Formats: sequence, structure tokens, C-alpha cells
Amino acid sequence: NRSWILRSRPIGDVKESDLELVESEMPDLADGQVRVRTIYLSLDPTNRIWMSDMDSYLPPVGIGDPMRGGGLGVVTESKNDKVEVGSKVLTGLSTWSDYNDVDGNAVTVLPELPGVPLTAWMGPIGATGMTAYFGLMDIGQPKAGETVVVSAAAGAVGSMVGQIAKIQGCRVVGIAGSDDKCAWLREKAGFDATINYKREDVGAALDKHCPDGIDINFENVGGDIMDQVIGRLNDFSRMPLCGLISSYNATEPVPGPYNFANLLMRRTLVKGFIVIDYYSRFAEGIEAMSKWLMEGKIVFETDVVQGLENAPASLERLFSGKNLGKLVVQASDE
Ligand code: NDP
Repeated sequence: NRSWILRSRPIGDVKESDLELVESEMPDLADGQVRVRTIYLSLDPTNRIWMSDMDSYLPPVGIGDPMRGGGLGVVTESKNDKVEVGSKVLTGLSTWSDYNDVDGNAVTVLPELPGVPLTAWMGPIGATGMTAYFGLMDIGQPKAGETVVVSAAAGAVGSMVGQIAKIQGCRVVGIAGSDDKCAWLREKAGFDATINYKREDVGAALDKHCPDGIDINFENVGGDIMDQVIGRLNDFSRMPLCGLISSYNATEPVPGPYNFANLLMRRTLVKGFIVIDYYSRFAEGIEAMSKWLMEGKIVFETDVVQGLENAPASLERLFSGKNLGKLVVQASDE
């Protein structure tokens, strides 16, 4: 069994030497466990946080330990009556390995959904879809006619946020880093307007595309983009604070937003959240998202990198913006 082991805490961008692919014999499966062959490994911006020793929502991955990651796989051996060999399962938090031995009671056995590919469980009906759904619906509280702005809009979470907001009858403006991504958002995902932050003046573009101000800022990025949005929020606006990817590789303290006072003046609700807080309500989120998916109201893309051996090098795609939609590593065949 091959596993990626964390050898050192990255400084700035992750370097290949920060991890090592190590081969080892697997112990016998313990009672209650299942052995899962990884098919798709989820690569997420938060992997970078787990590699660091910053105070976060989970303990850091230990130096010398297998890298933590979410996965989808097939059960090849079972010592748990509830899970049959051959079942496709989500392993929750497991490791960057060909095989993981996990508690059979902790895996999610995936039902077959007509017309829905397996990769959807990594995207719209997986953890990133649940992040979008609960962050927007629970914290954002969208109402028809309101204006929603979402950053990292063409990514796994952002692309779902915008489409859910459209279903709720909102006007949706997405911020993304290329013209191709912006075209996809408008033409395929139904966003009303987009801003290419690498080419456009974000403040001026927000003024143009949000003539009635901004009611919800679904924040994925932080930094100057967030600052420009905060400066244009409406009274009683909401800001689900989902992520701050622009600072995850920072080596120096990051200054706060210049427009911070506007959160007070506009009485904005800002709430940080982590999707695992909603775990007990995932069934509700999956039901809503799978219904919209099967009705064709939600489209999604998966950015698939082949080979477990390419996992660390591929993480960079999230920080350089090479991915459209959900980034996964395919470790073995479906
Ligand atoms: P994405 O698929 O959105 O990939 C990350 C994207 O972020 C890139 O494609 C890139 O797109 C954009 N980006 C990267 N660096 C910058 C930068 N410096 N400035 C602006 N944009 C940048 O990843 P996810 O959907 O998985 O995650 C999106 C955000 O949501 C992250 O902040 C992540 O940490 C957070 N998250 C939070 C969760 C929670 O429970 N709170 C759960 C899951 C994700 P572009 O080309 O547009 O620059």
C-alpha cells in the first residue's frame, strides 16, 4: 500500500519534498473495519492548512504521519456486517493512500443515482456541495431578488453557491481568475455577471454589476477581493465566511480588510463555518442537491488528475487557479 507521508511543514507553497510516497504492508483488518481502495481522492485548499501547525479546526497532520484527505472508494474487504464488499463509499477523513482501513460504521455507502456520475459525490453532493448548500442557505439566508457575490466562483464550492443562489431567485455575480472560467460561469452555470479579478478593477466591476448593492457575500478568498465586496455590502447583509485561500500560503501576518468598519455600519452578519459542523444535516443537503442535479438545474465540472503519485504536485492547481470545478486525484479505476 502506498501512502503520502508528511515529512516537513511547508513554508509558502507546498514543495514535493514536504511529502514522501512510502510503500508498506497492510496489517490484518480489525473487526468492524472495512478496507477501501481509493478511487477518487479529494484535493482541497484546507489540505494546506492541515500541513501547517496553525491553530485551526482540526489538529495538524503530524510529521511522519500519512497525509489526511477525503476519499471515495470501493470496499475490497469487510469485517463489518453493515458494509458489503463491492460497495462504493465515502471514507470521510482518511489518508492519501491506495488503500485505507476505516471503521465501517463511519463510511457513507453511496446509493446509485440515475444519470449521476460517481464524481458528483466529490462535488455537488459531496463535502464541497454541502459547504455551498449550508453556508448559503443557513448563513446567507438568500431571498428572491437579492444580490449574491461569490469569490473563487468557478471552483468546487463557488460554482455550487452561485447555482443554488440562482435557484433561490437571486442575482448572482461571480469573481474568478480567467475569461474562460467567467464564460463557463455565465454560459453554463447561469451566473448573471462575472468579474475576472486578474484583468478587471474589482471595485469598479462590482459597482457596475451590483447596482443595488450586495446582500450576500459568500467569501472564499479574502484579501483585496473581499475588501472590495465588504465596501459595497447593504444594510443587514450576510457574509458566510467559508475560506480565505489567498492567505493559506502566506509567510507573514495578513492585514485585515480596510473596509472592516462597513460591517458595523451595515450591520452585516459575518459567520465563519466549517462544513463538518453540518455533518448531522448532510442527508438534507444531499437530498436537495441531488434533486436539483437530476432535474438539470445544477451543472458541475471535475478536474481529474491521474495517479496517487501526482497528489502533492497537483495541490498547486488550487492556488494557481488551474482547476475548473472540483479537483480530484483518480487513484484507481471506478
Ligand atoms: P476551488 O475549487 O475553489 O479552488 C480554489 C480556487 O481559488 C482556485 O481555482 C482559484 O481560482 C482561487 N484562488 C486561489 N488563490 C487565489 C487568490 N490568491 N486570489 C483569488 N482567488 C484565488 O476550491 P474549493 O471550492 O475547495 O474551496 C474554495 C474555498 O472554500 C477555499 O477558501 C476553501 O478553503 C474553502 N472551503 C471551506 C470549507 C469550510 O468548511 N469552511 C469547505 C471547503 C472549502 P481563480 O482562477 O478564480 O483564481
